[in-house]
Amino acid sequence: MTGTGTDIGFIGLGNMGGPMAANLIKAGHRVTGFDLSATSLDAFKSAGGCPAASVQEAVKGAKAVVTMLPAGKHLRAVYLGEDGVLSALTEPTLLVDCSTVDVESARAVAAAAAERNHAMIDAPVSGGVGGAEAGALTFMVGGEEEALDCARPLLEAMGKTIVHAGGAGNGQAAKICNNMVLGISMIAVSEAFTLAEKLGLSHQALFDISSKASGQCWSLTTYCPVPGPVPTSPANRDYQPGFTAAMMLKDLKLAQEASAGVGATTPLGAEAGQVYQLFCNAGNEEVDFSGVIKMLRGENG
Ligand code: NAD
Repeated sequence: MTGTGTDIGFIGLGNMGGPMAANLIKAGHRVTGFDLSATSLDAFKSAGGCPAASVQEAVKGAKAVVTMLPAGKHLRAVYLGEDGVLSALTEPTLLVDCSTVDVESARAVAAAAAERNHAMIDAPVSGGVGGAEAGALTFMVGGEEEALDCARPLLEAMGKTIVHAGGAGNGQAAKICNNMVLGISMIAVSEAFTLAEKLGLSHQALFDISSKASGQCWSLTTYCPVPGPVPTSPANRDYQPGFTAAMMLKDLKLAQEASAGVGATTPLGAEAGQVYQLFCNAGNEEVDFSGVIKMLRGENG
C-alpha cells in the first residue's frame, strides 16, 4: 500500500475527511474522492485529488477505500446501498472506515464486506480537525490484525497513533467508551469549578490542588473549562471548538444506544447525555463541549 500510484477511493470529504484525504495525497497516493457537497469536492480538487461523480466512480478499481461519514445510516448507505461501495468492487479491496458510528452498523458493514472477501477495519479517530490537518490523529482500530497491517501505511499518513482494540466494531466501542469518560469528567470538573466559585476558592487554587490530587484528569489538566490555568484550553478563546458540544452529544448517545443494546449500567453516561442535550438545545451545538460550565453556572440555557 505504500508509495506513489496507490489508488484510494475516499468517500466523505468534509471537515475531517478533506484534510485526511489531502494528507494521503501529500504522502504520494493517488486519491479519487466523492462527496455529496460540491464545495467539499472543489476543496479536494484544489488539494490535488481527483473528484468523482459518484461513490461507484470513486472506488472503481481502487486498492483501498477510506470513508469519513457523519453516522451509521450514511455508512450503511455508502457501503451497502444499491450504488454503494460493495456493489462497485470487483476485486478484494481493503476497506477503512474512519467515521464515528454505532457499533452495530460497524459490525454489520464489516460482516457484509467479509462475505465478499474484502478486509475491513473500523478506525474512528480522535484529534479533531486540527489533528486531521496536522496528520496527527489517533486511530482506534477494530478488525483483523492482517487488515490493520495492510492499512497501516494509510493510517500513518493521516495520524500518529494507531491502537488495535480487537475485532470488528471494537474501534467504535473504544471511541464511545473513552468519550463517555470525557463527557462525564468534563461535567464533573465544571461542577467543581462552579462550586469553588461560590465558595470563594480561586480557579488557580483549585487547579493547583486538584491537578496534583485525586481529582486529576484530562478535562482538568489539558482542557480546563475555565480560562487561566491551562492557556491552550478553549475556555481561553470563549469556548470556540475544539470539540463541539454537538459531537459530544452524538458520542454520548452512541454510548447509551450501545449500553441499552448489551444491558450495561451507565447512569452517569445517561445523565451526561441529558446535560449536553440541554446545552445543545440552548443553541450551543457549535460551542466547545467545555462551554457546558456556562450552563452549570446558569449563564445560558
Ligand atoms: P462533516 O459533516 O464535515 O463531513 C461528512 C461528509 O460526508 C460531508 O461532507 C457529507 O457531505 C459527506 N457525506 C454524507 N453522506 C454521503 C454520501 N452518501 N456520499 C458521499 N458523501 C457523503 O463531518 P466531520 O466533522 O468531517 O466528521 C466526520 C466523522 O468524523 C463523524 O462521524 C464524526 O463524528 C467524526 N469525528 C469528527 C471530529 C471533528 O472534530 N469534526 C472528531 C473526531 C471524529
